[in-house]
Amino acid sequence: MATQQGHSILKLDGLKTADKLKQYIEKLAADLYNIKQTQDEEKKHLTALRDLIKSSLQLDQKEDSQSKQGGYSMHQLQGNKEYGSEKKGYLLKKSDGLRKVWQRRKCSVKGGILTISHATSNRQPVRLNLLTCQVKPSGEDKKCFDLISPPSCLYTHRWISVLTNSKEEALNTAFRGEQSAGEDGLEDLTKAIIEDVLRMPGNEVCCDCGAVDPKWLSTNLGILTCIECSGIHREMGVHVSRIQSMELDKLGTSELLLAKNVGNSSFNEILEGNLPCPLPKPTPSSDMTVRKEFINAKYVDHKFVRKTCTSAADKMSELHEAVRSRDLLALIQVYAEGVELMEPLPEAGQEPGETALHFSVRTADHTSLHLVDFLVQNSGNLDKQTDRGNTALHYCCLYEKPECLKLLLRGKPATDIGE
Ligand SMILES: [Zn+2]
Repeated sequence: MATQQGHSILKLDGLKTADKLKQYIEKLAADLYNIKQTQDEEKKHLTALRDLIKSSLQLDQKEDSQSKQGGYSMHQLQGNKEYGSEKKGYLLKKSDGLRKVWQRRKCSVKGGILTISHATSNRQPVRLNLLTCQVKPSGEDKKCFDLISPPSCLYTHRWISVLTNSKEEALNTAFRGEQSAGEDGLEDLTKAIIEDVLRMPGNEVCCDCGAVDPKWLSTNLGILTCIECSGIHREMGVHVSRIQSMELDKLGTSELLLAKNVGNSSFNEILEGNLPCPLPKPTPSSDMTVRKEFINAKYVDHKFVRKTCTSAADKMSELHEAVRSRDLLALIQVYAEGVELMEPLPEAGQEPGETALHFSVRTADHTSLHLVDFLVQNSGNLDKQTDRGNTALHYCCLYEKPECLKLLLRGKPATDIGE
């Protein structure tokens, strides 16, 4: 009985062991399969890398011959396996610049990547994939080694591809009419003009109260004000002052045309040319009533302008002369003196009944667009016709002035007046 029992126990143990062995073999098979898979992946990766390097070497024979003379080599060095494949520490690295100096750098090797920290911790460390590098003891100094990157033609070809693709993409975008690159260029231009405007004489303080750093633009007058004064400008209406933010509004180059050509100092020499004593001008701490009173007197009544003309005829001939000589400040002076901008000029010009606007459009070129813009924005009525029935809009077509047309359409003249 006892032996039979012993047999049974042994048999049971044997069965258990066989079962365990079976499980172990199954696990081993799975592990082996996984290892094989990983190995195959690695092999595939390395083969692809080898082919890539081989083909790029063949592509550039010159580079190839250089590589034989101490450059990148296909034959890799064998390392002493006892040292393992991970390491941290400091290495002396020769700098990349013209002046080669040795710099002590924190380095680490792990997972086939060499990480080289910069001297300052705020810069991202350099990570080199060792699969694409060659480690070589230095010929000159036994304490040194060289780490050679793959032949530069590998990168050159990649760069050429990226550049070609990018160019093709830009070309396609342009043909589709999206013109994203063009818009970027225009945005940069606008930014540059805004910076220029902010640096113009007098533009460091508000045109009305002298508060520093004014950021509100009167597009029809070409001046900058602070936020408080800009509120009063708005109240006066767009026929007096059109306010836009230099920071919040998306300004176009045409909105900046007058700002670029006027500026607070020049403007105030005219509009505040004859300030009485005591000074009625508000300060940055003035309350709204004081500001409002001054701003209305300055912009609506033109109360502080030094008068230079004695008669209406005088003003008309000054207006004509200002447009003829393309003198924007002279135009603002005569405007400030209350000239009737849309009255026919004293000299007939090309057609009887031409206004200053007709005249400025007819004679416009890229150096006089700011005069056209000032007249468009401050004339009130853009539909005044010559004796032959031509409006300024007709003149744009007659004399082929597309730039003036753009400025005029911004001022919204009537487009249904026939000849
Ligand atoms: Zn102000």
